Amino acid sequence: MSSIAQLLDGKALAQKMQATLTEQVQALTPKNGRPPGLAVLMVGDNPASAAYVRNKEKACAAVGIASFGKHFPTNTTQEELATVIAQLNQDDRVDGILVQLPLPDHLDSVALLNQIDPDKDADGLHPMNLGRLVRTEPGLRSCTPYGVMRLLEEYQIDPRGKTAVVVGRSILVGKPISLMLLDADATVTITHSRTPNLAELTRSADILVAAVGRSNLITAEMVKPGAIVVDVGINRITDETGKSRLVGDVDFNAVKSVAGYLTPVPGGVGAMTVTMLLHNTVWSYQQRFGS
Ligand code: NAD
Repeated sequence: MSSIAQLLDGKALAQKMQATLTEQVQALTPKNGRPPGLAVLMVGDNPASAAYVRNKEKACAAVGIASFGKHFPTNTTQEELATVIAQLNQDDRVDGILVQLPLPDHLDSVALLNQIDPDKDADGLHPMNLGRLVRTEPGLRSCTPYGVMRLLEEYQIDPRGKTAVVVGRSILVGKPISLMLLDADATVTITHSRTPNLAELTRSADILVAAVGRSNLITAEMVKPGAIVVDVGINRITDETGKSRLVGDVDFNAVKSVAGYLTPVPGGVGAMTVTMLLHNTVWSYQQRFGS
């Protein structure tokens, strides 16, 4: 008899964490004389980015974080953006700064990310924070992988002693989640587009993380029975009925009868990412005030 995987409900955990953050911000704002502040910088009018930015600002407002977002036209220069980042680095009302990616082609996103004060790097992507992660030192952690770890913790899934396989090696997800699982004492294998024996490796995983951006990449045959499967992918597809919808990298309907735990898309990892951004902003604010 096959059983059905337990869903790792990112949406429910995000709501719970946002309620706690709201209480924290309510208590700390009068004490510190100002609320935490986050500045989201967006360039151009990519509709997906605009929706993400709106989401982030709405979530900030809901927990009491002040937004210092700025929206720039597509033809904004590198120097103009660098100047704004330098001003925000000095602005005492701002605890977190993030540049919404992707940027238009004429801009060097890595150079801009490197100009953010590492202690205000709400996305945890500055080399200083990635270095802190490598060294297992406290620091701002990249939101999506951090959200995955928080979700595992919520369901009392301890990576210690487990075999973890991460599919994808990006600086945004694959590499940092591999390091976080390693720090949590999992034995980690990182796989990618040039890995020849992907299915063989994924089948060995107690914890399987898919972060690729390709629907149905992870099939039921690639999953060990009872495994914990975390689907980071976000893909827009047109289904059999002609409707457009979001799916992950995992063949959800097939894998749910093999895996022990599974994150849905939407409502899994994606729901956690914005919450970890709020968490990082409040953390950075607390570091500044020592409380
Ligand atoms: P990326 O394009 O930077 O990296 C993709 C990785 O997948 C690469 O390392 C590549 O080597 C690997 N890959 C490509 N084809 C492969 C294959 N056939 N087999 C094995 N590995 C393969 O993407 P990213 O920024 O890491 O994002 C990955 C996915 O996660 C995307 O769908 C993205 O939209 C999604 N994402 C979701 C969230 C969230 O909040 N849920 C956040 C960030 C990214």
